[in-house]
Amino acid sequence: MKVVIAGGGFAGMKLARSLNNKPGFEVMLLDRFNYHQFQPLFYQVATSGLDASNISFPLRKAFHKSKNVRIRVSKIEEILHDQNKIITDQGEIDYDILVLATGADTNFFGNKQIMENAFPMKSTVEALQLRHRMLLNFEDVVVSKDQAYIDRLLTIAIVGGGPTGVELSGAIAEMKIYVLPYDYPEIDFRRMKIYLIEAGDKTLGTMSEKSSEQSLKYLQDLGVTVILKTQLTEYDGQTARLSNGESLQTATVIWAAGIKGNIPQGVDASLIARGNRIKVDRFNKVNGIENIYALGDVAYMETPLYPHGHPQVANVAINQAKNLANNLRWMEMKSNSRQLEEFEYHDKGSLATVGRNLAVADIPKPKMHFGGFTAWLIWMLLHLVLILGVKNRLQVFINWIYNYITYDQSLRLIFTEFYKPRSVDHLGEKKPELVAENTPA
Ligand SMILES: Cc1cc2nc3c(=O)[nH]c(=O)nc-3n(C[C@H](O)[C@H](O)[C@H](O)COP(=O)(O)OP(=O)(O)OC[C@H]3O[C@@H](n4cnc5c(N)ncnc54)[C@H](O)[C@@H]3O)c2cc1C
Repeated sequence: MKVVIAGGGFAGMKLARSLNNKPGFEVMLLDRFNYHQFQPLFYQVATSGLDASNISFPLRKAFHKSKNVRIRVSKIEEILHDQNKIITDQGEIDYDILVLATGADTNFFGNKQIMENAFPMKSTVEALQLRHRMLLNFEDVVVSKDQAYIDRLLTIAIVGGGPTGVELSGAIAEMKIYVLPYDYPEIDFRRMKIYLIEAGDKTLGTMSEKSSEQSLKYLQDLGVTVILKTQLTEYDGQTARLSNGESLQTATVIWAAGIKGNIPQGVDASLIARGNRIKVDRFNKVNGIENIYALGDVAYMETPLYPHGHPQVANVAINQAKNLANNLRWMEMKSNSRQLEEFEYHDKGSLATVGRNLAVADIPKPKMHFGGFTAWLIWMLLHLVLILGVKNRLQVFINWIYNYITYDQSLRLIFTEFYKPRSVDHLGEKKPELVAENTPA
């Protein structure tokens, strides 16, 4: 059985590993990157807490000893399902079974202006771009005399009060307290403002009331201004206009307010559900197509426990992949001795961290809630378990311990060929007057 898996994220990797060296399977795993990305820690890469390599794992290394899994670094562009073929940017590939595990990308809900000017954080590369931009802004502040321009550079707005927005706001607020004043003694960080803008009436809206309340309090204690029941409506790179009539002057807007499934061409519109996800049955088989499956963030499955689809989280992706691997093995053996397993998700709990010693955790059975240090410890342990590769796990652990003791990391590196103040090329802004030496604030 030739199984082609498109996407080496949580679902694709789990499926490929479950079919690794299993007789009867020839597996091809393809991804647009040559590494697996551990998305839950992107925010730590963006805020210089972890190196990008700590949360990235080369796909080829994972299958060094494999007899049947082969890797292709290429992008799936189209499915020709009547010919059992996919078209990629590197040519055509045949399959017996195609598994779409292409995950999701940032959803700007059609707002082109925000898409062009705000920063998304849906890949390691985007997390690094964000890190570079934030650091370059501080470099610009140091050499600028124009106070309005400085204030704009020192204002960061994060849109979306879900786990990503909350974790990122908390991490930036901690940088402001513990790191930045020592890196940039010339800058008056009392002028630095961090806003978290959320359309709903609470942060962490999908978690318990307690978690929402606690996360809001933690953020406010760290100095983040949380604006609820408000949407970002326009952003031109300088002015962020909000639905409550207010506006913010900011050089950095980070968009963490929505995702949409990555679907290649060739999937009929009738098979696409809300959030650009592909409708699948309880076996993750795309509705009405015999040999195409979809897993994880890109799949939309209705079940008795989740009549409106599963949450787009790593555990759903991993468990769907496990279930599909078992089913494919039964199908390959052409065994009638067992029925194929339907998928259902049993939520073990949700977690989010806001900062040092600050996290929230909800456990559904038995119903429990943790906050503060205990939740933070659970959060760290779980993330360590989920990260791929012993070396990565160790590096992240050592980094966290080092950070906990010293309050600092030495990862604030800007990898650009030469540095020129952003004002020179950004949106035709007037170039601020440069000063030869560092000027005390
Ligand atoms: C910032 C952030 C924080 C998160 N935090 C958490 C958390 O704390 N806990 C949690 O459970 N979940 C979290 N998530 C969600 C979690 O990461 C996803 O639910 C999970 O990654 C979904 O797994 P997947 O395999 O479906 O897709 P992904 O892991 O996204 O993998 C998809 C893969 O497909 C590849 N791909 C995409 N398009 C193509 C194409 N056309 N051709 C080839 N390859 C392609 C991508 O490069 C990627 O490697 C977070 C997500 C983000 C962005």
